[in-house]
Amino acid sequence: METEKQRDTAIIQRHRYLEVLHEFTMRQASLRSVDDICWNIAKTAIGELGFVDCVVYLMDETRSHLIQRAAHGDKNPIEREILDPITIPVGEGIVGSVAATGKIEWVNDTRVDKRYILDDSFRCAELAVPILLEGEVIGVLDSEHPQAHFFSDEDVKLFTTIASLASTRIHTALALERLEEQANELIQARRDAEIASEAKSRFLASISHDMRTPLTAILGYSKLLEEGGGSEQEISSWQQAIVVNSEYMANMVGNVLDLTALESGQLPVSSDRVDVKRWASDLEFLVRQRAVKKGLAFTSVVDDDTPRAITSDRAKLTELAMNLLTNAIKYTFTGSIDLRISGTDIEGVPAIRVCVCDTGIGIDSDVQDRIFDPFTRVHNTEHFPNIEGTGLGLSIVRQFVEALRGSISVESVAGKGTSTTVVIPNLSGQPKDAPASGSNALLDAEVLGQEVLESRSLEGVSILFCEDSDTVATLVTLVLEREGATVTHAENGEVGIQLFSQTEIDFDAVLTDIQMPVMDGFGVAEALRSAGWVKPIIALAAFLSEQDADKCFASGCSDYITKPIDVATFSARVASCLSKPADQSV
Ligand code: ADP
Repeated sequence: METEKQRDTAIIQRHRYLEVLHEFTMRQASLRSVDDICWNIAKTAIGELGFVDCVVYLMDETRSHLIQRAAHGDKNPIEREILDPITIPVGEGIVGSVAATGKIEWVNDTRVDKRYILDDSFRCAELAVPILLEGEVIGVLDSEHPQAHFFSDEDVKLFTTIASLASTRIHTALALERLEEQANELIQARRDAEIASEAKSRFLASISHDMRTPLTAILGYSKLLEEGGGSEQEISSWQQAIVVNSEYMANMVGNVLDLTALESGQLPVSSDRVDVKRWASDLEFLVRQRAVKKGLAFTSVVDDDTPRAITSDRAKLTELAMNLLTNAIKYTFTGSIDLRISGTDIEGVPAIRVCVCDTGIGIDSDVQDRIFDPFTRVHNTEHFPNIEGTGLGLSIVRQFVEALRGSISVESVAGKGTSTTVVIPNLSGQPKDAPASGSNALLDAEVLGQEVLESRSLEGVSILFCEDSDTVATLVTLVLEREGATVTHAENGEVGIQLFSQTEIDFDAVLTDIQMPVMDGFGVAEALRSAGWVKPIIALAAFLSEQDADKCFASGCSDYITKPIDVATFSARVASCLSKPADQSV
C-alpha cells in the first residue's frame, strides 16, 4: 500500500517535473538555432530533472547517421562543447534502433541487451526516445544510468513529452540552418566568381599595359631608325631598346602561353636527360651578362655531390631557373647574384637542389606567402616604379616545380636579400632524347649554348621556305642568307610543293611554317614524304602543344623550332637540325 508520505513525495516530484517542463517550454519559445534548442533540452530539461546523463542526437541530411548535437553529464565535460561528436549509424545499437524503428527503447538491464554500445563508462539502464515529426524520426533523445531498472514509466512519459515539445522547433531550425548553409554556399560561389572575374580583368589590364609599353618602344625606335639620322651612339641605343623590349615581350607571351596550358590542365612533362654541369653553364651563359651589365657580381657553383645528370623536363627546368635568376637580377640593385647547384634527395630519390641567392630589396615577411599567387606583385610600384613585371613568373615557377614533383622554398629579409631554393628529383622512366626545341623558343634556342653557336655555318645550303607572313619570310631569309644559305620562298604550302616539283634546285632542307592558308605545314611534310623525299623538314610554329608536336612528327617533319625566332641563335638551330644523324630524321 502506498503510504501518505510516498504519495506526498510523488506529488512534490510531479510538481517539480511540471515546473521544469514549464521552464523548458518557455525557454524553447525564444530559441532559434538548432544548437540552442538541443542544449536547452539537455541542460534545462534533462539536467534540471536530475538525470545523470543525456545525449541529443539529430539525423544527418542523408538520414543514414545520427550525430550528437548536445549533451548533459560526463559526455559534456565543458560548457556547451562537444569535442568529438558521437556518430551512430541508423540501425546500430540501442539509439540506432530507435532511429530505424521510431519506437521507444526502454532497457532495464543493458548487460543482457546485445545492442548496447559501450562508449565512455558502462551504464546498466538506458532510455532512448525518438524525436518525431509527422511520424518521421528527426532525432533521438538518449539517457543512461549506472543503476539497472532506473527509468520509470513516469520518465518515459517525461522524455516523450520533451521530445514532442521540441520536435517542430528543431525541424524549423534545421530547415533554416540548411537554408542558411545553401545561402552561404551561393554567396561564396558568387564571391569566387567575382574574384575570378576581377583577376581576369586585372590580368587583361596588366597584359595590355605590359604589351603596350614595350610595343610603343619597339614601334617608336623602329620608326626613328626608318627615318634615318641620329648619331651612331643613338642608333645603337635605339637598336638595343628594340632588342630588349622585344625579348621582354617574347618572354611575356611565353608566360601567358604557359599559363593557358597550366589552366587547361595540359602540362605535358617530358623526360629529358639533363647534364647538370652543362645545364648550369647554359644558365650562366644566359644571365651573367645581364647581371654584370647592372653592376652586379655573378657566381655559379656546382657542388661536387651533384649528380652528373638527372631525368627531368629540360625546358621547364630551364624556364623556372631563368625566372628565379631574372627576378634576382630585377630586384637587386647592388651586390651579387649567386647560383648554387648541389645534390640531395627526395624520399630516397636522387635530386638536385638549385639555390638562387641575391642581395636585393627582399620581401617583407607578411607578404611572402603571396608571391606565388598569379598576377600578384608585392612591391609597391610607387617605391619601385621601374621594375617591370606581370606577377606571373613565380606562379608559373611553382606550378612547374609541382609538375616536376619537386619543392620550392623562399627565405627573404626585406632590404637584405632573397634566397630561393628549388629541389627537383630525378623523374623515373627512360629519358628520351627529344629535340631541344620545345615550349619556350627563346630559352630553348639559347640553351643550345656556345657549342652550336660556333658551328652555325649554313654555307652552300639550299633551303625551301614556306611562310605566309612576308615580314617573317624576309627576316628569316636575311638571317639564313647571312650564314651562307640560299633561301627560296613560297607564300604557302601549295606554292611550295609546286615550286619543289618544277624547279631544278636540289634543296637540302625544307623549312615550313605550320599555320598557313591553302596548305599548312603538316600538308607540306606529308606531300614531300609521300613523294619519297628524305631530307630534313623543319617546322616553324608559333605554339605547339604536345599533341601538335606529335602531329608534326607524324606528318613527317624531322624537327621543329618555335616562334618567335631569336635572330642570334636561329641559324644555329637550323644548322643543328640539319646536322642531326640520319636515323633521327624521318
Ligand atoms: P613579377 O613579374 O612581378 O616579377 P613574379 O611572380 O616573378 O612577378 O614575382 C612576384 C613578386 O614577388 C614580385 O612582383 C616581387 O614583388 C616579388 N619577388 C620575386 N622575386 C623577388 C626577389 N628575388 N627579390 C625581391 N622580391 C621578389
